[in-house]
Amino acid sequence: MNEKIVKMQKKVKKYLDEDRYQHTMGVMYTAGALAMCHKVNIDKALIAGLLHDCAKCISADKKIKICKKNNIPISEVEYENPGLLHAKLGAFYAESKYHITDSEILCAIRCHTTGRPAMSALDKIIYIADYIEPGRAALPNLEAVRELAFRDLDACICRILKDSLAYLESKNIPLDPMTERTYQYYQELEDE
Ligand code: FE
Ligand code: FE
Repeated sequence: MNEKIVKMQKKVKKYLDEDRYQHTMGVMYTAGALAMCHKVNIDKALIAGLLHDCAKCISADKKIKICKKNNIPISEVEYENPGLLHAKLGAFYAESKYHITDSEILCAIRCHTTGRPAMSALDKIIYIADYIEPGRAALPNLEAVRELAFRDLDACICRILKDSLAYLESKNIPLDPMTERTYQYYQELEDE
């Protein structure tokens, strides 16, 4: 693999616990495979997959502190559920600590938890790889979602959002309005 990526991999490992690192490797290789299948730049997919959770293993208090210090806006839902901040913070670290300047990679990291309407192919690949990587504990419809991932990215995104929203609702977990908007966008696209 690209030497730059191997170096980054060693650095990421230092900031993640073992489970998160294993998940990260799963996302990185799954993103690479999806990129091959959908003709997206493979290195960009590997790097975005590798760095997507680089800010995950930071305490909630510290996440808020770092955001404030660096003028990263925090929404109401993010205050309620600071875990959500790891995506924004991940993009910030990718740029400041891993010297990633590619805006497509940074964007894919930034939107990997909520998605966004009109995602790029790379955004979709990271969002999907995060959900389907081999180490994922059994989720409803995972087999169907995995099959869709290599066939139709938009349909796959729509399916994941539908299942995620149902899950979050059933657990009474506060929803980021962006997730809702993303779902509406992809549902309309599927209905066309
Ligand atoms: Fe994440
Ligand atoms: Fe993840």
